[in-house]
Amino acid sequence: MGFMHDKKVLIAGVASNRSIAWGIAKAMQREGAEIALTYLGERFKDRVKKLADELGISIIVPCDVRDDKNIENTFTELKKHWNEVDVIVHSIAFANKEELAGFLYEKTTREGFLTAHEISSYSFIAMAREAKNMLGKNASLLTMSYLGAVRAIPHYNAMGLAKASLEAGVRYLAADLGPNGVRVNGISAGPIKTLAAKGIDDFNLLLDYAEKNSPLRRNITIEEVGNAAAFLSSDLASGINGEIMYVDGGYNITGMGIHGVKGTS
Ligand code: NAD
Repeated sequence: MGFMHDKKVLIAGVASNRSIAWGIAKAMQREGAEIALTYLGERFKDRVKKLADELGISIIVPCDVRDDKNIENTFTELKKHWNEVDVIVHSIAFANKEELAGFLYEKTTREGFLTAHEISSYSFIAMAREAKNMLGKNASLLTMSYLGAVRAIPHYNAMGLAKASLEAGVRYLAADLGPNGVRVNGISAGPIKTLAAKGIDDFNLLLDYAEKNSPLRRNITIEEVGNAAAFLSSDLASGINGEIMYVDGGYNITGMGIHGVKGTS
């Protein structure tokens, strides 16, 4: 029996079979969870439905987090299938492509800044609020962050600021919901080539640099993030709350790129 046996999990953020959310869905299902997915509007419906079919997932609900009614409707729809939900996975981010290139102070517009924060950070709070009345005993909320929240990463710009806000949101939500037995955590993943990541200028350089300079000397996979997410959302992690856990092969602990330094390869 898997360590997520009988857990009911809503995962928001599957767009393709490269999505981190897809790695999470696969790992959680393997550990016995029952999964529901959201998709972003009609454009994504068919491909998310196809992926859902692969795992035998029958609950798929549209949700564009820019619209409060959409978020509300997600839980109204979910309620038709489940009385309670044990885990919410928020694996959603967006910033305009033209702002993910160049310098923050040159490229970030007021509108782009607001969009990045609304979709990538505020939406986690909005989902928590709408989910609250459905959350089961020992429920867990999980979101996805990146090192750009706490370090300056070339081209990441407003998305880095949105991730910093998201990580602060994890701590505030953990403090708010902790008394109800609800845990709130984040995973800070290393770079992975996904649809969202392709929007970042020079992303291949970032991938290559992380591979050469992380202590494990390789990049991580959606399966590895999925396994960590399954653990963190399960009762095995019952004492972990308000945490940002790095799944990046140890890249975040380094202080200097060491590729090419004598005796290090
Ligand atoms: P992805 O493109 O597969 O997933 C991003 C998801 O966000 C998509 O499913 C998309 O539909 C959804 N989304 C965007 N706007 C939305 C909206 N208005 N309403 C609802 N959903 C919306 O890319 P991914 O890399 O799997 O991204 C998932 C999460 O992981 C993001 O938070 C991302 O910042 C984070 N992350 C990614 C990496 C990486 O290198 N790929 C690293 C660390 C963290």
